[in-house]
Amino acid sequence: MRIDVVSIFPDYLAPLKLSLLGRAQEDGLLSIAIHDLRDFTSDRHRTVDDTPYGGGAGMVMKPEPWALALERVLEEQRPAQDAGTDGPGEAAPGTAASGADDAAAQPGGRRRPVLVVPSPAGEVFTQRMAYELAEEPTLAFACGRYEGIDERVLDWAREHFEVRPVSLGDYVLNGGEVAVMAMVEAVGRLVPGVVGNPESLIEESHSDGLLEYPVYTKPSSWRGHDVPEVLLSGNHGRISQWRLEQQLRRTAARRPELLEGADAAAFGKPERAV
Ligand code: SAM
Repeated sequence: MRIDVVSIFPDYLAPLKLSLLGRAQEDGLLSIAIHDLRDFTSDRHRTVDDTPYGGGAGMVMKPEPWALALERVLEEQRPAQDAGTDGPGEAAPGTAASGADDAAAQPGGRRRPVLVVPSPAGEVFTQRMAYELAEEPTLAFACGRYEGIDERVLDWAREHFEVRPVSLGDYVLNGGEVAVMAMVEAVGRLVPGVVGNPESLIEESHSDGLLEYPVYTKPSSWRGHDVPEVLLSGNHGRISQWRLEQQLRRTAARRPELLEGADAAAFGKPERAV
C-alpha cells in the first residue's frame, strides 16, 4: 500500500518511520511519502493561509497550494493505482463491502483513489473504517491547520479522489497530523504482513464489535493479585467462555452503546464456541 500525507509540518509525521510501520516500509509492504504543503506555494513567504471570507477569527488554508500538492500525489500514486486497477479485494470479515460505491468509480470503471481529510466535522474513525481503508492500494491524507482548508479544495478534489472527511473523535486538535498518525497506524497494521501474527488482529477490541477481554502474563501470582484460575486450567472451552463473558461485561460497563452494534455472527465463531 502507498500512503501520501500532505502537511505544513512534515516533521510531525516522523514517528511513522518507527516500530512496526517503519519495519513494514523497510520490507516494502508499505510506502509512506510525506509532502510539505509549502513546497507548492509560489511566494517568497511560502504562504499557505489567508483571512476568511465573511469575517471571523483565525485563518483559512488557501486552495491553490492544496490543488498543486494533491496533483503531485495523484501523479506519484498512479503506478500503485494502476497495479491495483482490479479495485480493492473483498471486504475484510465483519465489515460492510469495502468503501466502494458508485461515487467512487470514475468513467471507465476505474476507482478513484481515497483522500482522507481529517476534520472534527467528519464521520468518526472506527475499526470498521480502518478495515475498509486497508483494502485500498493507495491512501492520501490532507492535514489541515488553522480554521481548516478552503472548502472548494474538497469540491475540486472530488473530481479526482473519493474524498472522506474523517474525525478522530468529538474534540478539536490543532492540526490533522496527530489524527493522521492514528489513522495510518490503525490502517497500516491491517495490511497483510505488517503484524507478525495475524491471529492477534482477530482477537482484539472492536474486531467483532466488542472490547477485548483482560489479558495476563507470568507470574500467576503478583503482589497479592492472582491470574483468574480458569486461564491456568488448560480447558480451552472454559477459557473461550470466560473470555466472551469478560468481553460482554467490559463492553456493557464501558461502552454499552457498542452492544447494539456487536456482530452477532462473532458469537458463533469457532474460536469462541463454548
Ligand atoms: N475550525 C475547525 C472546526 O471547528 O471544525 C477546526 C479546525 S482545527 C483547529 C485545525 C485542523 O485540525 C482541522 O482542519 C483538522 O485537520 C484537524 N483536526 C482538529 N480536530 C480534529 C479531529 N477531531 N479529528 C480529525 N482532525 C482534526
